[in-house]
Amino acid sequence: MRDLARSDLEALVVELGDAPQRARQLWRAMYHELRESFDDMTFLSTPVREALQERFVIGSLESVYYATSEDGTADKALFRLPDGELIETVLMRYAPDGHRKVRRTVCVSTQAGCAWGCTFCATGQQGFRRHLSVGEIVSQVLFMERIARAEDAASSEGGRRSAGERRGVTNVVFMGMGEPLANYENTLGSIRTLIDEQGLHIGVRHVTLSTVGLVPQIVRLADEGLPLNLAVSLHAADNVTRSETMPVNRRYPIEQLVEACRTYIEKTSRRIFFEYVLLHGQNDSVEQAAALGRLLRGVLCHVNLIPVNPTGEGPFQRPTRACRTAFQQTLRDHGVPSTIRMEKGIDINAGCGQLRARIAGGA
Ligand code: SF4
Repeated sequence: MRDLARSDLEALVVELGDAPQRARQLWRAMYHELRESFDDMTFLSTPVREALQERFVIGSLESVYYATSEDGTADKALFRLPDGELIETVLMRYAPDGHRKVRRTVCVSTQAGCAWGCTFCATGQQGFRRHLSVGEIVSQVLFMERIARAEDAASSEGGRRSAGERRGVTNVVFMGMGEPLANYENTLGSIRTLIDEQGLHIGVRHVTLSTVGLVPQIVRLADEGLPLNLAVSLHAADNVTRSETMPVNRRYPIEQLVEACRTYIEKTSRRIFFEYVLLHGQNDSVEQAAALGRLLRGVLCHVNLIPVNPTGEGPFQRPTRACRTAFQQTLRDHGVPSTIRMEKGIDINAGCGQLRARIAGGA
């Protein structure tokens, strides 16, 4: 049922014999009230309810593992899909800082496995199995929304939010298993459901889509009229180095990628976030920082520097603090803003694809 767009749901309910207003109530019941069964949806006529029950399930995900990091800032869930595929979802909690309020960010998966084979990524080491449906992507957020709402209810601050302020899940990032733009239609469908103001109503500017750099899809996304945050995994400033860790670069080299990003910025007026995983000895030298600075000078962007989250099989180590600082200073010298972002949830294998690797591998 969660595969349907609101317009499709409306058409279905009308076709079955109820008024469009009933479809709107059904949408709200599923995405605002988080109901998972038609049983008590008495606003629907009995024949329509029975027809829906016969043909659809609203569905929920089967959680086979759930863990919270020691510091309590990150939860990680492993879900088993009906065909046996395992996917991961992470919930991250951020305390207020400066002008920003409490945030809860859900990191969703969009594919079971991934075809792009980035050498530093646990998912990339597992291969591609299939795309996730709209419902499977949306359901990951709804699962975490339940947890977030329960926390709000338990917290003494739960009842003191200001008018219009959203609690529960505040942000969604498409940075879990898989390449979201390779599953373009379902990714965009799930975003449209998540931001729908009659349902969960996540602010579109609080949605971040991360891509390995699929050039045609970035150009297509620029015309969707969705002011999303776009994060592009760059990880190197020259084609030789980037191709060593990111096979996608052989198909879409850096020059094409940056050109597509410029198109995206021009059409959306949105800043792009470039993700740069710092791999010690591979892409973390001052010379490489200078090359990155030259590449991005004048581009409306922000660089997120992410010291690698080592995997069991992966060959890469985290760079030293001195390395990280020198890299960032060099970018600053070129007028390129950046942040060093330490990943949350290291003790629960919250890096992309790591938990599935551990559970499926029997560790
Ligand atoms: S980093 Fe992203 S695109 Fe690369 S292999 Fe991992 S999931 Fe796929």
